Amino acid sequence: MRNRIFRRYFWIAFLLFSVTLFAIDSYAIRSSSSSRIERLRAQLESDARILSGETVIPIAAWVPVAAARSCFRVTVLDPQGNIAADSSPGLEASDSLSVNTPFPNAGGPSWILRLTSSLSEANASNAAFRMRLLAITLLSMALALGLAIQFMRSYSRRIDRLRTYIEGLPDAGLPDDELPAGADELGSLALSLRQTAPKIRDLLAKLKLEGARREAILASMVEGVLAVDKELRVTFCNQSFARKMGARIPVPEGLPLLDLARDPALRDILVTVLKTNQPMERRIQLRGAQAHSFEVQAAPLAGLLAHGALAILHDVTELERLERVRKDFVANVSHELRTPLAAIRGYAETLLDGALEDLENNRKFVEIILSHAIRLNNIASDLLVISELESNGPAAHPRRISIRATIESALRTVESAARVRGVRLLTGPVEDFEVLGYEIRLEQAFVNLLDNAIKFNRLDGEVRIETQVGQDGKGVITIADSGIGIPSDDVPRIFERFYRVDKARSRAVGGTGLGLSIVKHVVEQMGGSIRVESQLGKGSQFTVTLPAHITHQVS
Ligand code: ADP
Repeated sequence: MRNRIFRRYFWIAFLLFSVTLFAIDSYAIRSSSSSRIERLRAQLESDARILSGETVIPIAAWVPVAAARSCFRVTVLDPQGNIAADSSPGLEASDSLSVNTPFPNAGGPSWILRLTSSLSEANASNAAFRMRLLAITLLSMALALGLAIQFMRSYSRRIDRLRTYIEGLPDAGLPDDELPAGADELGSLALSLRQTAPKIRDLLAKLKLEGARREAILASMVEGVLAVDKELRVTFCNQSFARKMGARIPVPEGLPLLDLARDPALRDILVTVLKTNQPMERRIQLRGAQAHSFEVQAAPLAGLLAHGALAILHDVTELERLERVRKDFVANVSHELRTPLAAIRGYAETLLDGALEDLENNRKFVEIILSHAIRLNNIASDLLVISELESNGPAAHPRRISIRATIESALRTVESAARVRGVRLLTGPVEDFEVLGYEIRLEQAFVNLLDNAIKFNRLDGEVRIETQVGQDGKGVITIADSGIGIPSDDVPRIFERFYRVDKARSRAVGGTGLGLSIVKHVVEQMGGSIRVESQLGKGSQFTVTLPAHITHQVS
């Protein structure tokens, strides 16, 4: 009997059954003994009535005869209550029943006739009856017990099978025919369970699928998702959020929020949402997440089971950086344009104020105006290239370009500038290969690199350009010069827009500070990279690496 409920009911029923049986027994015993005594009393009374009708003298001789006839002890008492005659004189009447009746005495007051019977026989019959009854009671109790245990075992077994079936329901553990059959309540319960089981399994499968789908969506989300209960314990947190907090994945459910994100701002938002039951949005910087900035959208979560809050965190650090870059860029552009514009305006005003007639200087002033106009033009065309590169993104329909042809074309463009500055252009081994991209852009990038190598060179210096295809299938182009070199502090910044090591020198040689940022853009859009090594006073070497397709051999 493993079922506790059955065990309890069983003992209650058994107790009730036993109490009832014993109550019936005691009632039967009592009523049988009293009826036996009543019968004896009636017998005594009727015998006394018969005997009292006889008139006999002498009384002492009559008493034994009367006792023999009635089978009872006969005693005659005089009116004073003294024993006048007794059929069993001297016998002590311990457990007995007596009946007194008036006994007429001719010529005098009535005597009393007493008939007495011993109760020992009645008691013996009572005892025998009690024993029989007890035997029957015990037997029926044993029978009832046996039957009840049998019944309960079978019921228990059926309930156990039902339980196993229900427990295995989500995983389709027990086959349907293992369910208990029968026409009773358990049978009908099993039947309705069998009918409901496919629906439950179907529902569970759908829930599982839905859960997996939601899990996959949340896991693949870039946004951090966090759900807490009203005590600010984590009820859900996706991988993105855990990663941002540097927490171990998976985050255990029920973890206090402060153990996951030690950030008062996030906590405040969630507390407010829980308190006001209203959604809210705020931009915060999370301490745990390397000071990343997040746009937090929080909303109350009113579930069926519990109340809580949900927060979605968009990482806006990059957005903020871009905003900053854009602002800096606008500021830089205005700054860059202001100088030539101010110069042009200043010299134009000077000319108008009378310098036009100054035959010594007027030509010089116009030349200055022209050089600033050229500078403005250069800046404008570089900005145009950058904006084109940024708005088009990676080339939509790239073409195969021959590296050697592009380099030759770039060399032709810078040839005259090199000659003017007395810089020699040398080509090392040039292994031809093809790359995917736009020829004009790539040529522009090489022109910028070569132009810098010439501009920041010394008189009689040289520029060497080489190409080769590495073992990893990447094409490498190096442009090395024997120029002024770049201070190591400036090296990481030279690819930034408008960054120049020596502004005056750059400006003097017609630089805009945009050349290298264009090169970097072009190379990266083609899936390549650029790096620079430089030694101050000795020269610099720019290395461009691009995904290559080999076409020709080294020339
Ligand atoms: P710029 O128009 O001034 O040449 P770039 O973006 O092309 O602008 O280059 C940025 C700065 O990097 C230059 O102003 C210069 O200080 C430095 N630089 C670029 N190339 C070289 C080089 N080959 N040798 C020395 N310095 C260089």
